[in-house]
Amino acid sequence: MLSFVIGMPCCTPAQSAANDVTRDIDPGIAVVIASTKAIDNHAHPVLPPPNDATDRGFDALPVDNMEPATDPVAWRADNPQLPAAWKALWGFDGTAPLDADGLKRLAAARAQVKAREGDHYAAWVLDQAGVATLLSNRVAMGTGLAKPRFQWVPYIDALLFPLDNSGLAGANPDRGQFFPLENKVRAQYLQAVGLKALPATLDDYLKQVVTPTLERQKSQGAIAEKFEAAYLRGFDFADVPREQAEKTYARWAKGGQPDAAEYKALQDFLFRYIAGECGRLDLPVHLHTMSGGGGYFDVSAGNPLLLESLFNDPKLRKTRFVMLHGGWPFVREAGSLLQKPNVYLDLSQQALTFPPRTLAGWLREWLETFPDKVLFGTDGYPFSESMGWEESEWIASRNARQALGLALTGMLRDGEINQERAEELTRMVLRGSAAKLYGLQ
Ligand SMILES: [Zn+2]
Repeated sequence: MLSFVIGMPCCTPAQSAANDVTRDIDPGIAVVIASTKAIDNHAHPVLPPPNDATDRGFDALPVDNMEPATDPVAWRADNPQLPAAWKALWGFDGTAPLDADGLKRLAAARAQVKAREGDHYAAWVLDQAGVATLLSNRVAMGTGLAKPRFQWVPYIDALLFPLDNSGLAGANPDRGQFFPLENKVRAQYLQAVGLKALPATLDDYLKQVVTPTLERQKSQGAIAEKFEAAYLRGFDFADVPREQAEKTYARWAKGGQPDAAEYKALQDFLFRYIAGECGRLDLPVHLHTMSGGGGYFDVSAGNPLLLESLFNDPKLRKTRFVMLHGGWPFVREAGSLLQKPNVYLDLSQQALTFPPRTLAGWLREWLETFPDKVLFGTDGYPFSESMGWEESEWIASRNARQALGLALTGMLRDGEINQERAEELTRMVLRGSAAKLYGLQ
């Protein structure tokens, strides 16, 4: 039953007002949107019972301990979209924000479904959100998150920063938390290739650590690689000569705080090396491209236009890049980059943060220009007690579908496309383009 995902029957005036947008969607398009099971390009499912309480593998940089920042409305406890998700998922009636007692009752309602579904629970969540296949961005997968419905997208940032990171960690309190977490992931990657310390030369680091890590992840089922580098540095990955990177690496691999400019150049070299290897291994590269999270996030250094020299590198044309979260606030800049034959973007996180009509504005422009490069996504994530990955997956799926309906209806009514093309575009965005990109059914 998918029809509620686009327009559920409502119980209160507030909810019914929130769903007015569905009246502006062409009924023929609405039917196709509601009946198409999606490929979700990006989210962070939590392991189902019995591992749900202890699971931390849903993010390499869990963002629940950052310094206070001003959250967007959609992340707050009084997010007006929450009650409809609670009702649909758990049959739970409540008003946001929930008080302590309400949170307890919500947890009990959730626990009941978990007990009923057991290790099928995560797949049940996908069913409620109309998602057939989820590209699961996690450090590692686990019981209850199995192929073909859950496909693995591991993190690779840790290998960009092999040297002493205490200087970078000192930039601000949030990076002070991030870099030790990356150091931990890198230690795991070193251990997995049988090393306790960094090799002495860059050549050995690439041959003994970087390439084998990517190959291991691929052999363990990875279908893409994720960089959340925008949390850690800017997007200006220059094309640095190998000899220069070799010198920097050799000088500080054994310890000592590297010179900031030289370390940046080494990261630049490593990024392009990893991207090249991802092309060879047929692993599309996912990049976090959206403002946030956190109050110290460097918004201007995360402008996707800074990726252009990377996207224009002829050596990397075999590598497919996906700009996750569609680049907000740089949505037009991100859209312009879709003319590169190997560049895509997705709607994840945007579909949670922005109401459908707002999202439909720039989605329409993307669909009018490069419709085959736009992928459905949610960024379902365990944000809080009142918005778990389940609620965020459900809300974003509904918003993305409604935004798609509005954008295509506008194009249809303005005579830009006919009904048949609108339905074709629906299927492309919701699953067809992703199926092609990752070789999925
Ligand atoms: Zn994410």
